[in-house]
Amino acid sequence: MSSLDGRSPLVLDVRELGRRAGAMMTFDRVAAAPNDLANPMIGIPVGSDLALDVMAESVVEGVWVSGNVSASTQGSCSRCLEPVSIPLTVDIAELFRYADQIEDEDTSDDEIPTFDNDLIDLEPTLRDAVVLALPLAPVCGEDCLGLCSQCGFELKNDPNHQHDQTDPRWAALGKMFTDDSAADGPDPKEEG
Ligand SMILES: [Zn+2]
Ligand SMILES: [Zn+2]
Repeated sequence: MSSLDGRSPLVLDVRELGRRAGAMMTFDRVAAAPNDLANPMIGIPVGSDLALDVMAESVVEGVWVSGNVSASTQGSCSRCLEPVSIPLTVDIAELFRYADQIEDEDTSDDEIPTFDNDLIDLEPTLRDAVVLALPLAPVCGEDCLGLCSQCGFELKNDPNHQHDQTDPRWAALGKMFTDDSAADGPDPKEEG
């Protein structure tokens, strides 16, 4: 039994393949993005367009699904925290085995997804591919200057932004000179 909805755009109805090895179907459609196609920094907004361009090919063990899915992602620049939107295209390639052919075979390999009732659920495959492809540290641009480490100022607004502060090493040197000049200064006892 399958609880999949054959009308769901992320479910591929491969009935037409008829289990004839070599038969092919293409799926060129736009689906609404499910949730959780994201990492903490960036992701595909729920309900936004997922452009599917995949092919289902009947093979002896099941159906080989390959192709790609394109979407637009939204997140935050990891350097300056400004919103970023990065186009994403992920490749998909997965074998789905016929569930009813598994029983008398070795079922120890749980890694290979199965399907029945001619309906293939592409969502888990898609989620794995997308999460793997999303950048962990997205940037608004490779030249993003990020934020000032001292005040959080966005450096792209003023690349010359800096704080008036003396390097601690120079500060120590300065103090030494001050001490020297004090020692070299006029001593009232000697002059008097
Ligand atoms: Zn940035
Ligand atoms: Zn600053």
